[in-house]
Amino acid sequence: MSDTPNEPPTPPLPPGTPEEITRKLEDFIKHSLGGQVLFTRIDPTTGGSTPDSDGSGDAPPVDDEEDISKSFQFHYKPAEIKAHLDRFVIRQDEAKKVLATAVCDHYNHARMLREQSTATAAGPAIEFTKQNVLIVGPTGVGKTYLVKHVADLIGVPFVKADATKFSETGYVGGDVDDLVRDLVAKAGGNIELAEHGIIYLDEVDKLAGGGGERGGRDVSGRGVQTALLKLMEETEVPLYASNDFRSQMQMMFDTRRGRTGKEIINTRNILFIVSGAFSGLEKIIDRRTAKNSIGFASAHGGHAGDIENKLHDSQTKDFIDYGFEAEFIGRLPVRVVCDPLKAADLFEIMKKSEGSLIRQYEREFAAYGVNATFEDSALYIVAQRAAEEKTGARGLVTAWEKVLREFKFELPSLGLPQLTVDGNLVENPAAALDHCRLEAATWESDVRATEVRQFAARFQEEHKLELVFEPTAIRSLVDRAQREGSSVDAVCQRLFKDFPFGLRLATRTNGQTRFVLDSAAAENPEKYLSDLVVNTYRSAAPAAPESPTTPESPHVA
Ligand code: ADP
Repeated sequence: MSDTPNEPPTPPLPPGTPEEITRKLEDFIKHSLGGQVLFTRIDPTTGGSTPDSDGSGDAPPVDDEEDISKSFQFHYKPAEIKAHLDRFVIRQDEAKKVLATAVCDHYNHARMLREQSTATAAGPAIEFTKQNVLIVGPTGVGKTYLVKHVADLIGVPFVKADATKFSETGYVGGDVDDLVRDLVAKAGGNIELAEHGIIYLDEVDKLAGGGGERGGRDVSGRGVQTALLKLMEETEVPLYASNDFRSQMQMMFDTRRGRTGKEIINTRNILFIVSGAFSGLEKIIDRRTAKNSIGFASAHGGHAGDIENKLHDSQTKDFIDYGFEAEFIGRLPVRVVCDPLKAADLFEIMKKSEGSLIRQYEREFAAYGVNATFEDSALYIVAQRAAEEKTGARGLVTAWEKVLREFKFELPSLGLPQLTVDGNLVENPAAALDHCRLEAATWESDVRATEVRQFAARFQEEHKLELVFEPTAIRSLVDRAQREGSSVDAVCQRLFKDFPFGLRLATRTNGQTRFVLDSAAAENPEKYLSDLVVNTYRSAAPAAPESPTTPESPHVA
């Protein structure tokens, strides 16, 4: 949003309810400035505000000021946080521990500060170095996933942004402050809760300046580092940005509603977590370690190619050499590495993570009545393919998408109750889908045949008369139901509605209770019934009197 238009003079409020005005303004501004505009909408019941665009990790909305105190009840221990993360995030044990500990330190300190500020006799000021975290790791290995689940667990708002958003569009100071204001939006307008939120900035490696050993980076990155420095330490961000139209409108509405709360957000208790892939950092580490141990590394063969290990060895100087301001990197005292995920890890993610993509697919198929089961043979192949993508767990989505695309489209209409996703299906989805189609056709007729038999069973129970449908009769009824687009049961009920009465006539006449129906009977039940009745009567009727002309008649004189 660096291309903010020239600010017009503050307009008088147009007529209409605030909601109508807000909606009109949103439409107008989105139309004029594109979709990157984040709106904060006022909740008329609370006076708080909610964002209309989706970000990652919404904090639970906070309804009133009373709830603020609840959000301050931080009572977790690092092991508890890690246990929670273990449910979702596979591997990254070091990151889980370090993050859990930093989070506990941060929020315990915030609580102590609060307690001190509310205590009657103020003691000596509590010294504390803020535990902002730097996570080094490639894409798709669970960095965001970790932070989001921490924020979810402890109930604080969470905002994620890419640092490139600031460095590429040209640095505008207000943009960085917007992160803080976005926290307020995520906290439902609750400033105190926002002041304890988490800001997660990815791709900070792109902020490395041109002075580093890698050279040639844009200067705007340094400007963003400087702006972030203040936020990460402690600064006060105005709730309403003076150069931002949205903020000004928000202020007008808030004032109009008589909202008289805090208008400043203090960043002291906001936890900052930044991350990046830092490609090339390993070379810097290599050079440093080579310099420090001349003769040693070469004598011992070093650990060439083992990127994970090298990144674990990173030091402050390496990041400065990479192109970061010493002050910036100094504000990120907690550093941890997230390891790349191998095929075996991706397999585990599918098998064990509570947020596994497989659970998602199972739910998606279940929505159409298909019970999908995923066998290990399938997971294994997909894990291998995903690992080749080199995009971490994101590769799983790409790999599965290719395999399941046609199934997701066609299966809902096939009416199959079960899909077994195994290695064969993954290797040859087209053939597996053909097989499904065949199976569906057979299953369909089987199921419908069962419906015919079920109808007969009910008929027998209700009327004590047995209908035996020959296979050809079943076929005929199933076909008719298919042609008419109705259920087999409905067709049977309609075709045989006169049968109880008609058959009972036969029963009364000759005691017959079992009736075999062939395809002709199924095609024309009325004729079957009338023939039956006629024949029954005929066979039961006393022998017709002899013709008077019969010569043998004993009675004829
Ligand atoms: P990044 O490291 O780029 O921030 P994300 O955390 O956004 O990657 O990962 C993308 C998705 O991949 C997550 O939403 C999650 O479903 C899955 N994922 C990534 N890493 C892991 C992991 N270690 N364990 C379980 N799921 C993971």
